[in-house]
Amino acid sequence: MPAEIHPRLQPVFDEFLARNPGEKEFHQAVYEVLVSLTPIAGKKPEYAQWSILRRMCEPERQIIFRVPWMDDEGTVRINRGFRVEFNSALGPYKGGLRFHPSVNLSIIKFLGFEQVYKNSLTGMPIGGGKGGSDFDPKGRSKAEVMRFCQSFMTELYRHIGEYTDVPAGDIGVGTRELGFLFGQYKRITNRYESGVLTGKGQSWGGSLVRTEATGYGAVFFVEEMLRARGEDLQGRRIVVSGSGNVAIYAIEKAQQRGATVIACSDSNGYVVDESGLDLDLLKDVKEERRGRLSDYVSERGSSCRHVTNGSIWQVPCDIALPSATQNELGVDDAKALVGNGVRLVAEGANMPCTPEAVEIFTQAGVPYAPGKASNAGGVATSALEMQQNASRDSWTFEDTETRLGEIMRAIHTRCAETAAEYGNPGNYVMGANLAGYLKVADAMVAQGLI
Ligand code: NDP
Repeated sequence: MPAEIHPRLQPVFDEFLARNPGEKEFHQAVYEVLVSLTPIAGKKPEYAQWSILRRMCEPERQIIFRVPWMDDEGTVRINRGFRVEFNSALGPYKGGLRFHPSVNLSIIKFLGFEQVYKNSLTGMPIGGGKGGSDFDPKGRSKAEVMRFCQSFMTELYRHIGEYTDVPAGDIGVGTRELGFLFGQYKRITNRYESGVLTGKGQSWGGSLVRTEATGYGAVFFVEEMLRARGEDLQGRRIVVSGSGNVAIYAIEKAQQRGATVIACSDSNGYVVDESGLDLDLLKDVKEERRGRLSDYVSERGSSCRHVTNGSIWQVPCDIALPSATQNELGVDDAKALVGNGVRLVAEGANMPCTPEAVEIFTQAGVPYAPGKASNAGGVATSALEMQQNASRDSWTFEDTETRLGEIMRAIHTRCAETAAEYGNPGNYVMGANLAGYLKVADAMVAQGLI
C-alpha cells in the first residue's frame, strides 16, 4: 500500500480489518479514506474520534437474501441478493443496484461506503447505500430478467421507500430492469411511489438527463480540472474504458466539447478507432442490440481495430476516463499512461484505479480525480429526480443539464478548496474524502450515538 494511515487512526483500521476478514475491496475503500483523514487527525482530532470513525466503517444495516427464479427451460435458479444500508446521517440511503456475477458482500460494502462520501459531496440530502445480486443478465431472455427482478423485489420491497432507502441502477441494471423492479414494488405495496427508485423511464416518473448524467458529469468535472490549469477539451485525445451507461455518455459529451475519443472497451476486449468513435453505431450495438464491441468493429470497417488481449491503457492519450469497473487500472497501466504522456485521469467508474496506480499518477504530477467526485453526477441527478417526483413536476432537458453542470462545478470547488485548506492543493482524493467525511461526521455527532 503506497501511503500511511496516521498512527492515531491505525487502531481503527486494525479493528476494521479484524471485523471484516477477506473483504479486500471494502478494505481498499476504507483504507483510502483513512489515509485522507491524516490532516484532521492532527488538526481537528474531534473528527477523528473512535466513536465516529468506527461507526463510519460499520454499515447501519446489511441485508442478504435468497432470490429464487425459474429460467426459460423450467430450471429453478438461486441467486443471492444484497442491500447494504450504510449511512443515513444526511438523508435516506441512496445508491444503485448491481447485477453482475462478481457481486459479493465485499463489493457491495465498498460501493456503499464510497457512496456515503460521494452523496455528501453533492451537497444534497441523501445518505449512502448499495445493493445488487450475483445474477448475470447477460445472455438471459427478457422474460428471465423480468422474473428475476420480480423475485428480487419481492424481498427488497420491505426494506426500501421514498423516505427510507432509494435504489437506482448500476452495472447490469438499466431502465429495463428498473421498470420490472418498480412494477413489482407497485404491485406488492399498492402504491404509486415514484420516489422509491431513480433512473426510471421518461413516461413513469424518470428525470431527463438521468441516463446521461454520470458520463456527462464526469466530463463536466474534467472540464473544471482543465480550466483550473488554463486548458480545455478541444482537440484532446481521450480513452474511455467500458461501453456501458457511463462510458457512452462520457464519450458523447467529450465529443460535443471537441475532443476525439479514440478507444473504449467491454469485457471481451477493446476497440481503437483513431479517427474517433462512431457514437451512433456504438449506441446501436451496445444499447439497442446489447451486442459486443466485435460487432462494432465488423460494421465500422477498416478504420478501427479490435484487441482481445492486452490493456486499453496502452493506447496513448491525453485524458484517461476509466469507466468500466473496480481495479481495472493497475500499476502497469498507470506506468504506460504516464509514459505515453497522459495529462489527466478522472474516474467514471467506482474505484477503477488501484491505490498503487493512483500513487504513480500522484508521483508523476498527473491530476487524478476519484470516482466519488468525478462520477457523482449520476446520483446528483437521481436526487433531482426525487425532487421532481416529490413536487409532481418534470423539468426540461436543458434545465436539468444546467443544474447538473452547476453541481459538478460545486463539487470540484469543494474538493479543490478542501485540499488546499488542509495543505494538499491539487490533491482531489484528499479534498473529496475530507469534504465528504466532515459533513457526514457533523451530522452524526448532532444526531447522537445511534
Ligand atoms: P454498465 O453495465 O452499463 O456498463 C459496464 C461496462 O463495463 C460494460 O461495457 C461492461 O462490459 C464493462 N465491464 C464490466 N465489468 C468488466 C470487467 N470486469 N472487465 C472489463 N469490462 C467490464 O454499467 P455502468 O456504466 O452503469 O457502470 C460502470 C461503472 O460506473 C461502475 O463502476 C459503476 O459502479 C459506476 N457508476 C455508475 C453510475 C451510473 O449512473 N450508472 C453512477 C456512478 C458510478 P460488458 O458489456 O462486456 O459487460
